[in-house]
Amino acid sequence: MPADPSSGPAGKTPKTPARSAGSHQRGAAALPARAVATSAVEVRRSTRRRKSVTAYREGDRTIVLIPARMSQAEERRWVGLMLDKLAAQESKRHLGDTELEERAARLSAQYFDGRARPASVRWVTNQNTRWGSCTPAEGSIRLSHRLQGMPEFVVDYVLLHELAHLLVPGHGPDFWQLLEAYPRTERARGFLEGVVAAEGLPRLPAAREE
Ligand SMILES: [Zn+2]
Repeated sequence: MPADPSSGPAGKTPKTPARSAGSHQRGAAALPARAVATSAVEVRRSTRRRKSVTAYREGDRTIVLIPARMSQAEERRWVGLMLDKLAAQESKRHLGDTELEERAARLSAQYFDGRARPASVRWVTNQNTRWGSCTPAEGSIRLSHRLQGMPEFVVDYVLLHELAHLLVPGHGPDFWQLLEAYPRTERARGFLEGVVAAEGLPRLPAAREE
């Protein structure tokens, strides 16, 4: 009996912040992000896997684990099902402001020894040319709702970027040195550049972030 896609652990995305999966290439930079997100699918066949199918995101790739004996036609069908399922889950999984504050605290502890302490972190819908912004005097951080549904490593990057501004205001060497601790800075910036390129926005966030 084939595994049921609705009961698979597709939503279980392994959290691997410490392990930098794969190389740090800037492959996504020049490509539309949607194309990257849908085309980078890696199917792994396992002889130990008898009937269950699993899918999860690993960075900007999607891994689908299937039984070794599955036919090509079945593989195509299952990959399609699992991609749809993941996409549906991700579009539902929006962090609330509370989760955003918790995540900010965790990132600050992990990368800045807890020195960045925002007074508030929240989503805003009126920010369309910047991914995030920070008002150091108030200790307030705002993230664009356009980040919702993007991979976690991208949201974390923007959050960390704004947290870093609580410590260093501009974008000088001091600032980027702080962000070097986060292993996916380059990749996240490439992802966001890809989104901008795909949507044909007039301005690049890398130059407009505050
Ligand atoms: Zn900035």
